[in-house]
Amino acid sequence: MKVLIADNGEDSKNVLGKILLDEGYECIFVENSREVVDRIYAELPDVIVLGIKLSKPCSLEILKQLKSAPSTRDIPVILIASRRSQSKLTKGYRFGAYDYIARPYFKEEVLARISNITFACDRVKELEKLLDRDYLTGLYNRRFFMERFFEELAWSVRYKEPLSLMMLDIDFFKKINDTYGHGCGDEILKQISNSLLSVLRTEDIVARYGGEEFIILLPNTNIEGALTAAEKLRATVQDRNFSCEGSAVRLSVTVSIGVTIYDGSAELSPDRLIGQADGALYDAKEGGRNRVVLYKQ
Ligand code: GH3
Ligand code: MG
Ligand code: MG
Repeated sequence: MKVLIADNGEDSKNVLGKILLDEGYECIFVENSREVVDRIYAELPDVIVLGIKLSKPCSLEILKQLKSAPSTRDIPVILIASRRSQSKLTKGYRFGAYDYIARPYFKEEVLARISNITFACDRVKELEKLLDRDYLTGLYNRRFFMERFFEELAWSVRYKEPLSLMMLDIDFFKKINDTYGHGCGDEILKQISNSLLSVLRTEDIVARYGGEEFIILLPNTNIEGALTAAEKLRATVQDRNFSCEGSAVRLSVTVSIGVTIYDGSAELSPDRLIGQADGALYDAKEGGRNRVVLYKQ
């Protein structure tokens, strides 16, 4: 469990940090207010403990930024507050903070609050998982993907960040089903899903789009980055020996991938981008399969 403590008080490191470290939590300390958001993006902690007195940017601005970004908005935030900071604390709750810890730090109270929050968040995550995941592969489902896609595109437009999209389809999958049976086909779908997750970054959003078709969104990734990732995916699948449970058969499987990038035009919709990636995927199939093709603008 990773806890990021953003505060400039000595006691936050020496007392609060020690309480958590002694209990087996991994702790990251950030003292400079300006570095907080970037470190959170980089570390993606499980819990954020944020000093209410931080300034430039102040804790409320930091909260607002965290709660507006898809990748950080679900990380629970606990404020470090004192009796005198009640009006700011109320604002903090309105901005999305879950709870607070008061100074001076008492071990039992700190641990109870952190464990309450992680318990509640774990339950919510379990429920969300049921709603958002594909039952076979455990990847995100199409419904969840589309929801995130709209948000990520809006984010990219606003902050002028590149956004890449890939459509990946297994080559000759029907033949695998016909030769080895549907159960084996299902096994291969799971193993390919694991291969995708092992190659991609945690910020990338991977979903099962259809039967043997996957869709991948790569936030803040330019075309070179997307092509490198796509080629790595293609090669990883090609080089892996796939197997079916209870059988000695070792199979080679290949995939075709279509790639496109959000080019900064405000007109572009998720459907248009999917159409572009799909067109590139079609070209990859036509070109002989087991390849990556970039959509030509
Ligand atoms: P191509 O290289 O052109 O993509 O050929 P393909 O055989 O992969 O494509 P096609 O669209 O003809 O066949 C896709 C197959 O994927 C047919 C369908 O039975 C299989 N499929 C789809 N969903 C599942 C699933 O959940 N489990 C299994 N085992 N097979 C599935
Ligand atoms: Mg296919
Ligand atoms: Mg297909």
